[in-house]
Amino acid sequence: MTLQFVFIAGIRVEAIDEAAALDRIESMIETGRPHLMVVVNASKLVLASEDPELQRIISSADLVTADGMSVVWGARVLGSRLPGRVTGIDTMERLVERAAERGWRVFFLGAKQEALDGAIAVLTARHPSLVIAGSHNGYFAGRENEVVAMVRESKPHLLFVAMGSPAQERFLSSNLAEMAVPFSLGVGGSLDHVAGISRRAPVWMQRTGMEWLYRFASEPRRLWRRYLIGNTRFALLLWRERRRSEHVGPSDGR
Ligand code: UDP
Repeated sequence: MTLQFVFIAGIRVEAIDEAAALDRIESMIETGRPHLMVVVNASKLVLASEDPELQRIISSADLVTADGMSVVWGARVLGSRLPGRVTGIDTMERLVERAAERGWRVFFLGAKQEALDGAIAVLTARHPSLVIAGSHNGYFAGRENEVVAMVRESKPHLLFVAMGSPAQERFLSSNLAEMAVPFSLGVGGSLDHVAGISRRAPVWMQRTGMEWLYRFASEPRRLWRRYLIGNTRFALLLWRERRRSEHVGPSDGR
């Protein structure tokens, strides 16, 4: 039997590639009921291992995939193979393309107004038939109910929330039923990338799993502590998990 998922830090990460993930998402949209996808990287897994509420939110998602290469490497340390990354930004871009073809309505929530407007302009220029159900920037402290009602009333099929982690996952988990959107995904800083406000690594670096290095090299002063501490804690988490699995058996779904 083929490997279907890998457990890391108590989170079930799906062992699927992008094409399979997109098909799964399409079936979710067809049901019309609310679904949540969460993409995880090393720091989100470390956070979840220390925060039971966040762990519950991620575990209750309908689909969890590896956003960061560290998770693919981490799975390998635990003796399991993931086919590769299924990132938030790539999933969003592919789904926007399908939305334009299928007539699915899309809501974008998050980022600064300038990035949000820029990203929508780029995506509608790329896909002229794309239907934007609505949008709102990610700065609405104290007005959450108003924004939730706005999403609900615009009846989107897809909701992308770009407010950074874990804020976007918490927002989605608390309001999923109320917003009643068939498919929601937290996409971090993706709208900034699409708008061209922050740059993504060249494609060859994305393909070879070196995107993290590009990001680090762009902002070493801001990121070195985060990378060093984050990766050390992730390594420790994997080490503990590996020791535990040596006692109780394999950590995956074979
Ligand atoms: N952001 C937001 N509301 C907030 C704080 C942040 O909409 O209250 C946006 C911010 O403008 C940026 C994104 O969230 O577009 C955060 O991106 P980051 O790269 O930090 O998120 P990550 O991908 O690391 O989760």
